[in-house]
Amino acid sequence: MQYRATCPSCGTRFPRSAYFRPPHQCPSCRAAIRPEPTWDARGNAVAGIIGIPIIMLGAYLTVTHGVAGLLVGVAIFAGWLFLGWVFYPYFTPFELVVTHTPVPDTPAPPVIIPPVPRYHLKTVVGLGLCILGAVIWAGFFKELLHPPTTRPTPTYPAPAATTPASAPS
Ligand SMILES: [Zn+2]
Repeated sequence: MQYRATCPSCGTRFPRSAYFRPPHQCPSCRAAIRPEPTWDARGNAVAGIIGIPIIMLGAYLTVTHGVAGLLVGVAIFAGWLFLGWVFYPYFTPFELVVTHTPVPDTPAPPVIIPPVPRYHLKTVVGLGLCILGAVIWAGFFKELLHPPTTRPTPTYPAPAATTPASAPS
């Protein structure tokens, strides 16, 4: 597989940690860069299509099997992140971000503001809402699977003691 997570200007390979924090400036040549948007969007779509069922499965296992199910769900989730970390550099090419009009024989001005905004808070909130929705969805299975054992047995007074007049002679 071709290692695509490289600087388009100088060819420096970016480490796999870029999966969690993609560089917006090459650490070697300082060129302003970003993940190529089409590849980035497709990669995010594939990760989401795989990730959402994993979150739902984890919530289901947690509701049906308690702590053991939660641990299995977290392990599967960590495996999903691990696969993304492993395959990230093969599916994430980078491109140069033009932040200025080149002038011949003039050095490029330094990049002060990152050219691509980061979405850490949106990612955390979105993932949290996904997990919350999956837990609520999985909560319905608890009622379906455990109705006799989870509900307390109702206690009624003896029918004969409450309605003596209705008893036929
Ligand atoms: Zn570079």
